[in-house]
Amino acid sequence: MRDVIIIGGGISGLTAAYALAKAGRAATLIEREATLGGVMQTRHLDGCVIESGPDSFLAAKPAATELIKEVGLGADLIDSNDHQRVTFIRRHGRMVPMPDGLMMMVPTKIWPMVTTPLLSWGTKIKMGLEYFRKPPMVDLPERSVADFIRDHYGQEAVDYLAEPLLSGVYGGDPADLSMSSTLTRFVDLERKYGSLTKGTLASRKQGPAAGGSLFRTLKGGLHDLVKALDVRSAGNERIHRPVDQLRFLPDGFEVLVGGDWLATRNLILATPAWAAADLLATAAPELRDLLSQVDYSSSMTVALGYRNADLAQPLTGFGFLVPAKERESLVACTYVGRKFPHRAPEGTSLLRCFLGGAGRASVLQQSDDDVLAATRADLQRLLGLTATPAFSTISRWPRSMAQYTVGHAARIRQVEERARLHPGLHLIGNAYRGIGIPDCIQLARDTVKAILK
Ligand SMILES: Cc1cc2nc3c(=O)[nH]c(=O)nc-3n(C[C@H](O)[C@H](O)[C@H](O)COP(=O)(O)OP(=O)(O)OC[C@H]3O[C@@H](n4cnc5c(N)ncnc54)[C@H](O)[C@@H]3O)c2cc1C
Repeated sequence: MRDVIIIGGGISGLTAAYALAKAGRAATLIEREATLGGVMQTRHLDGCVIESGPDSFLAAKPAATELIKEVGLGADLIDSNDHQRVTFIRRHGRMVPMPDGLMMMVPTKIWPMVTTPLLSWGTKIKMGLEYFRKPPMVDLPERSVADFIRDHYGQEAVDYLAEPLLSGVYGGDPADLSMSSTLTRFVDLERKYGSLTKGTLASRKQGPAAGGSLFRTLKGGLHDLVKALDVRSAGNERIHRPVDQLRFLPDGFEVLVGGDWLATRNLILATPAWAAADLLATAAPELRDLLSQVDYSSSMTVALGYRNADLAQPLTGFGFLVPAKERESLVACTYVGRKFPHRAPEGTSLLRCFLGGAGRASVLQQSDDDVLAATRADLQRLLGLTATPAFSTISRWPRSMAQYTVGHAARIRQVEERARLHPGLHLIGNAYRGIGIPDCIQLARDTVKAILK
């Protein structure tokens, strides 16, 4: 019988494999694809570093930075060029810069809010008056992001701030996403201060001095972390095949891989929740039912490289977001070489376009030619960009981004209670305690700590 089997070789499974190897514990990692890393894949094309999946992580959450340093990649860490961080939002056919001082949807500076053409006077006044809101007398029920933001700032703030931001970051719809599971901090601020603006300003005063960049990544691309984790846990067994089924034994588990049943005392499921649900279908149908309730959105990234000489005008800022009300194909676009150094060589502009998201999975079925044509048509409509790209590449990510919809926290509590009935069974990945890379790393590390105990 094996000590630990990990199913899934994305950042969650690999972090667990590495942490176990470091502690001298044998673990078998089973990944169905030939390449490790799950959605964390990097391509190198024409001197550009192209992130097919995630491109960076939040610097404020330490788990990813700590792991990167631990595996010897600290010198490769790079920060976003925050001195040129301006994101544009499409409004009335124009690209409007997000007002300075906006923390997600929370305004913290008066003058940029007064002067922005992004919002109407009615919304600006509502946003200003929000400052005088008192803390609620009773605990408010769980609300969707749309309900929460509408209550504080009005519908226009949902349409032109919350919706594009959440579509760009989570591929999600604010009408479905849970405020307390997606933007927990703002619910805490509401409870304490009533006003989000007052709360944000107060916590900024109390918190560490501002500084440091918002996003961080690796010079050579995030897949370098995958390679480093792979090397540091390579002494352990690796199987590149899909696990088809699993069953419970009195003292452990058995997994079916390539026609063989492999027994183990500890089993870590590091797959998306829907894949874990499929595996548990006969062994634990009640767990399957709960896991199948975790929604996932499907998305696609399209990277386009342009010679600067072919662009009619230089790109400014980090990129743009397109609200659903003004959307055709593109949800968001990052000007990669402006957001990070070392991503595109001198003279080249690299655009990373994001398509799909909640309710728009059908775009993944389109042919590459159709996707490229739709992307270019949208870039022409949105930026007036008619140049022919020097190169392009498309990555499809079906059912990859977990959606923390209303009821998520209660659902995950039930999942954890059910999983505890099977000692040795562990569930990790982006379905549970955060979808960002640092969250996935943190959960994997905490899980290994529990196993080592
Ligand atoms: C397009 C995109 C952009 C993103 N951008 C960012 C970003 O900029 N910053 C950020 O912090 N986060 C971002 N995220 C989220 C973050 O990247 C993911 O949440 C995280 O990488 C998920 O890692 P994981 O290991 O949990 O899952 P995955 O990467 O999905 O890995 C799961 C693995 O399990 C394997 N598997 C599934 N079923 C089986 C089976 N039956 N047998 C064997 N193997 C199986 C799969 O092949 C896969 O390799 C992004 C996600 C996407 C899709």
